[in-house]
Amino acid sequence: MSEQYDVVIVGGGMVGLTLACALGGSTLRVAVVEAGVPESDWPQESVGLRVSAITHATRRVFSAVGAWQGMVERRITSYGEMHVWDASGDGVIHFDAADAGQPSLGYIVENRIIQAALWARADQFDNVDLLYPVRWQQWQDAGERLCITLDDGRELRTRLLVGADGARSAVRERAGIETKGWGYDQHALMAIVKTEKPHLHTCWQRFLPDGPLAFLPLHDHYCCVVWSTAPEQADELLALDKQAFALKLAESFEHRLGAVTEVRDRGKFPLRLQHAVDYVKDRIALVGDAAHAIHPLAGQGVNLGVLDAAALAETVLSTQATRRDIGALHNLRAYERWRKGQNITMMLSMDAFKRLFGTRMEPVRWARNIGLSATNNLTPVKRFFMDYAMGNRGDLPKLAS
Ligand SMILES: Cc1cc2nc3c(=O)[nH]c(=O)nc-3n(C[C@H](O)[C@H](O)[C@H](O)COP(=O)(O)OP(=O)(O)OC[C@H]3O[C@@H](n4cnc5c(N)ncnc54)[C@H](O)[C@@H]3O)c2cc1C
Repeated sequence: MSEQYDVVIVGGGMVGLTLACALGGSTLRVAVVEAGVPESDWPQESVGLRVSAITHATRRVFSAVGAWQGMVERRITSYGEMHVWDASGDGVIHFDAADAGQPSLGYIVENRIIQAALWARADQFDNVDLLYPVRWQQWQDAGERLCITLDDGRELRTRLLVGADGARSAVRERAGIETKGWGYDQHALMAIVKTEKPHLHTCWQRFLPDGPLAFLPLHDHYCCVVWSTAPEQADELLALDKQAFALKLAESFEHRLGAVTEVRDRGKFPLRLQHAVDYVKDRIALVGDAAHAIHPLAGQGVNLGVLDAAALAETVLSTQATRRDIGALHNLRAYERWRKGQNITMMLSMDAFKRLFGTRMEPVRWARNIGLSATNNLTPVKRFFMDYAMGNRGDLPKLAS
């Protein structure tokens, strides 16, 4: 006996759960199929290794779906300034929320906190079922629905299947949607550290010849380090004992925050640019990293995914309101048209930044240092970049407006 749904979301990560919450309280029956067991409880003093810089647009979506308060209660850190500088030259740029008349530029939040708050919120909706730990095994066309078999033997029938299952999306693969992209030959080394000097609620980023080294502010004197570098160097850094790593890190960061006084967890993640050729097929839609993966140097990946989720929810709800088929390709195309161009613009901008700062060609290095300092002195251009970084540009879904 199969269970009937309108929307089945594969992947209960940050993006899939945002979509579930955005459809919560509607007339649609929604299921989230999640392979893992989401963390909900951890010692107060522990800090999750994966964190995200959250824009104001994303914060507005989280508020609108009723999950932001749950994040605030668990722990968030707002940041009001951003300092970026070039290791090979004197180019500097400084963003201050006060220049945009805002109390903050954004927030740094542990991924597990985002996921736990969204999960708890999704669980409150009568029309949303959270199925875990379970994976889909196969699906077949069944007229106006897809029939999905889970690996615990259950069968779900749905009008729309959403792949929110991350960069290695099996939904995307099974749907035959190709990707385009390239590896960066870089790994992002992440670490939770404590610094001697206060971080001043500022995001700090130094562009080294091998890639950017960022310190993102957390509670107290803690920071999350994101160090994008060659895979061999990432391995060497991870092989250092904590004391040697702390010394190397502080030195590579010009001791801007003094000594690194404590090193907690460390880990590395391979970096690549990847973009799905299509976001939709008949009865299928992709959101978040399943549709696009981006270099983390400006911390935009999950922010794009949250806007995908809000845009898809808006498209589906308006299709449903006019009694049209929410899974039909011609109705899903509106979502693809809405999000694809904006995601490509952001991905290519980040790629261009990464290449600009990765080059060792002397004339380009000279020009980029001049460009950075010139931008720093041009208020309108700086305002444009700040608006972009805060997520206030582009055609925003209603939940983000
Ligand atoms: C080093 C680094 C730093 C980053 N920093 C930032 C940042 O500061 N700001 C930002 O916006 N973004 C950042 N990102 C990007 C961000 O982490 C991703 O964009 C985000 O995690 C994507 O969320 P998602 O929900 O689409 O996918 P995921 O987080 O990958 O979640 C996918 C979910 O699907 C589940 N799943 C997978 N397969 C199946 C299956 N077959 N069945 C059921 N469930 C399944 C998984 O268990 C998981 O819960 C960073 C990325 C990296 C690598």
